[in-house]
Amino acid sequence: MQSTFPWGDVSVYVAGHRGLVGSALWRALESAGVGKLIGWSSKELDLRDRDATFAAITEAKPDIIIDAAAKVGGIMANSTFPVEFLRDNTLIQTNVMDAAHACDVERLLFLGSSCIYPRHATQPIRESSLMTGPLEPTNQAYAMAKISGIFYIEAHRTEYGRRWISAMPTNLYGPGDNFDLQSSHVLPAFIRRFHEAKVAGAPTVTVWGTGTPRREFLHVDDLAQACLVLLQHYDTHETINVGLGDDMPIRELAETVASVVGFEGTIEWDSSKPDGMPRKLLDTSRINELGWKPQISLRDGVASTYEWYLANKA
Ligand code: GDP
Repeated sequence: MQSTFPWGDVSVYVAGHRGLVGSALWRALESAGVGKLIGWSSKELDLRDRDATFAAITEAKPDIIIDAAAKVGGIMANSTFPVEFLRDNTLIQTNVMDAAHACDVERLLFLGSSCIYPRHATQPIRESSLMTGPLEPTNQAYAMAKISGIFYIEAHRTEYGRRWISAMPTNLYGPGDNFDLQSSHVLPAFIRRFHEAKVAGAPTVTVWGTGTPRREFLHVDDLAQACLVLLQHYDTHETINVGLGDDMPIRELAETVASVVGFEGTIEWDSSKPDGMPRKLLDTSRINELGWKPQISLRDGVASTYEWYLANKA
C-alpha cells in the first residue's frame, strides 16, 4: 500500500463499530467506497479475550485497522470504576495491536481522548504537552490506559517500522451516543434531562458541577472525516489532536441544548458533583495543516442528535 491509496482497494477493520465513534467511521468508510468493511459486535468478539481477538483478526487479515473500541464513560462512571476503565482499555488495545502485528497490518489508527493531557496543561493544548504534568483525577484510569496505547503505537513504529498512528479527539457527541444518566457524557445527559423535563412539565432541571469548566464538542461525523484524512496523509510517531479549536463553558452548552430541545424552565447547578478538568481546549494547528476542518455547527449537531434520540431512545 502506498502512503495514499484508493479506498476501493483496501479492507478496513473497525474495532468498536457499534459504538458512537465506530458507527460514524463505518458510515464514512461506506461513503468513501471502501473495498471491504469488517466489524464484530462485542457479543460476537470480546476484544478483552486475547485468543479470540487473535483468531478473528489474523483470519480477516485487514489492510487497515481503526481501533475505536473502548470502555468509555462520563465523569461519574470514569471516577467510580477506575479498575474496569484501566483494565478493559489496556486489554482491548493491547490485544488488537498484538494481533495486528502478528498478521502484518500496515496501517493502524488508535483513537484516544483529550483527557490524556495534564490537568494544568497550557491552553490550547499542544500534542507536545503529553506527560508534562499530573493528570485530572476524575479520568485518570482511562487516561493512563490511553497514554500506554499511544506509547505502544510509538514502540511499534520504532521497533518494527510499523506505519501506525494515534489521534486524540476532543469531547465527542452524535447519533448512537450513550444517554444513560449515570454513565454518559455531558451533552447526551443534557439532551435527555431537558427532554424529560419538557415532557413532564418540570419547572427546573438540576445538573452537575458549577457550569464553569470549559469544553469543546465535536460531532462524530467530523471526527470520522478526520480519521480518513489521517490514514491517507499522517504518518509520524507523535499523536495528533482532533478538535474544534474553540470551547465554551458548560453553562453555555446547557443553554444551547435547552433551547434546541425546547425546555424553558430553570437550570440549577449541583456543586457537590465534580467539575473535572477546568479546561481542555486542543490546539488543532497540526490537523488543520492537513486540510481538515470540522463542518457541523454545535446547534445543527445537537438538533440532529436530539432527532436521533427521539427516534431511538425517548
Ligand atoms: P469530562 O469532559 O471528562 O469532564 O466528562 P463529562 O462530559 O462527563 O463532563 C463534563 C462537564 O459537564 C463536567 O464539568 C460535569 O460536571 C458537567 N456536567 C453537568 N451536568 C452533567 C451531567 O448530567 N452529566 C455529565 N456527565 N456531566 C455533567
